[in-house]
Amino acid sequence: MTGWLAIAGLGPGAAELITPEVSRTLAEATDVVGYARYVARVPERPGLTRHASDNREELDRAGQALRLAAEGRRVVVVSSGDPGVFAMAAAVFEAVEAGDPSWRNLDIKILPGISAMFAAAARIGAPLGHDFCAINLSDNLKPWDLIERRLRLAAQADFVIALYNPMSSARPWQLGRAFELLREELPETVPVVFATAVSDAKEKVDIVALKDAIAGRADMRTVVMIGSSRTRMIARDGKQPFVYTPRSAEV
Ligand code: SAH
Repeated sequence: MTGWLAIAGLGPGAAELITPEVSRTLAEATDVVGYARYVARVPERPGLTRHASDNREELDRAGQALRLAAEGRRVVVVSSGDPGVFAMAAAVFEAVEAGDPSWRNLDIKILPGISAMFAAAARIGAPLGHDFCAINLSDNLKPWDLIERRLRLAAQADFVIALYNPMSSARPWQLGRAFELLREELPETVPVVFATAVSDAKEKVDIVALKDAIAGRADMRTVVMIGSSRTRMIARDGKQPFVYTPRSAEV
């Protein structure tokens, strides 16, 4: 049997935001590998083995998936959102580069998904309509100094900034510090969007001005978007405003 490895994005949460390509590939798989919370989103069925692991074991998980594919299994590694955005695709390539040379010849495919920032943006309007960047606020794999530098330069460059992994019990102060620093660089009225559990039953989306942004509003399932100086709000009676960034930047 010829094995293969697909690295698939399950989107932000709702089943209808999983692409048909990912659904079809999951239907052909013998094994699903991933963080327990994401593996749980793939329904059990006969012939499918689900391998759930802890969140911090990305490299081990990638190695396990590659070994299974090399043995002839049809393996899907699952991530939330898009697998290439702060997720398993890069971990798999780290394992390929450092691991068994035969892994380079495996049939490896990346199946895109809807990343949290795109799902969140779609809820409120078009905040990413002009130039933007995404920053992972976790300092597990990079020094905090580098994150501060990137935040400051991104604000100076007037990018809209999407912050992934803004908060966890192990990292309680980082987002507060990020807001402090961004207030030094940006107008205090810039809109900040807290989008939590987008497309799930527990979805909650709040829009505040940068001066009123409180880090405690975010949790592990929140993506935080900070507008550029040009990001605008369109007020609506009794409804959440639209937030958008015009396409052009006048000089
Ligand atoms: N690959 C994923 C990101 C994984 S990092 C993607 O492309 O979306 C995990 C972070 O993603 C979380 O801390 C949170 O910032 C964000 N996230 C994932 N799902 C989300 C959702 N449904 N709503 C809001 N943010 C989400």
